[in-house]
Amino acid sequence: MALPRFLVDRLGEQGTLRLCESESHHASRVLRLGSGDRCVVFDGQGHEADGTIQSVEKKSVEVSYRSCTFAPRDHEDRLHFAIGMPKGDRQRSVIEKLVELGVDRLTPIDTERSVSKFDADAIEKLKRYAIEACKQSQRNRLMHIDPSIGWKEWLARSVQGEPSSLWMLHPQTLHEAGVSGVRFVRSDRWLAEDPLGAESRVGSKSRVVFAVGPEGGFTAGEVAQAIEYGVGLLDLGERILRVETAVSAAAVLGSLRIGLSISVPDSPQRREVRQV
Ligand code: SAH
Repeated sequence: MALPRFLVDRLGEQGTLRLCESESHHASRVLRLGSGDRCVVFDGQGHEADGTIQSVEKKSVEVSYRSCTFAPRDHEDRLHFAIGMPKGDRQRSVIEKLVELGVDRLTPIDTERSVSKFDADAIEKLKRYAIEACKQSQRNRLMHIDPSIGWKEWLARSVQGEPSSLWMLHPQTLHEAGVSGVRFVRSDRWLAEDPLGAESRVGSKSRVVFAVGPEGGFTAGEVAQAIEYGVGLLDLGERILRVETAVSAAAVLGSLRIGLSISVPDSPQRREVRQV
């Protein structure tokens, strides 16, 4: 069994720290840990340490640790998603997939067919899901979750921001007539080549950003706007996927592409992939 994990504010080289009230409650009441039991503490910024419980009170648990290591287990800010989030429980599912697959940043987007509006409380809830998913997946750096933003504003900001390779996930089979000359890229080609060539916005860090529509999908107008801004259209096959499935498939594709660009030094493949 993996050791229980607790989120703390910060970790030094070594020391003793007191867990916050909710983490203490989890350790003492839910997991019923006692002094001498082992656990892992992580700071949400990439560090973790093996710890030993020193004392247990209902609302205050002390943990000591001797050394701390940096192991963020994410994609180092190179994999971002903007998503028209689904409702209810399915939000948790989307967050779990994103966190488990190492996605670094989520921006909930408000699109024409969005069903969920995100106020500050709703964002806090997503952040709590993300912390739980970090513990479960042994990830040590929290996924960044932005405040919700309108689709057009997101587009404008993304093209002005740091150079990134921007992709809208859209099923080609549902593509509405009327937008002509649209080039879709299928996932196999997307991985193998530099599909947009010189048109793609190339960054030395090769950040990949995906936009995923809500359950009702993106409207023809939103697709047209994406194209206008130079965003590529990525098709994941002839079946229509639920948001969480589309997110998972794209996160794997993105991480493969990022992984290729950093783990194959000096190969021709690397030069190509660097141009994502
Ligand atoms: N009924 C919707 C389908 C939405 S599925 C429609 O009419 O478009 C929710 C989102 O998942 C889509 O907006 C898209 O971003 C993504 N998605 C689902 N299936 C996909 C596929 N085959 N290829 C690419 N993206 C897909």
